[in-house]
Amino acid sequence: MKASRKSSTRHKWGEKVRFPLKTEQQCSRCDMVKVGRREGGPAGYWDEFWRGEERIHCTATPACDARREVTA
Ligand SMILES: [Zn+2]
Repeated sequence: MKASRKSSTRHKWGEKVRFPLKTEQQCSRCDMVKVGRREGGPAGYWDEFWRGEERIHCTATPACDARREVTA
């Protein structure tokens, strides 16, 4: 099978960094940071997505725009 360029780019999450109540993973392609927060209990877990200082409000994972690869 030949490698094809897909328009829908997936995030390339880096190593998960663990904190007492959260985890952080940064995408090496677009610099987006996925923050997994935990407040205890089965319902006390959710993901947040950040780009720099700005939180991205969304219901699903935002698309990866691979901005770092475009400029590379
Ligand atoms: Zn990404």
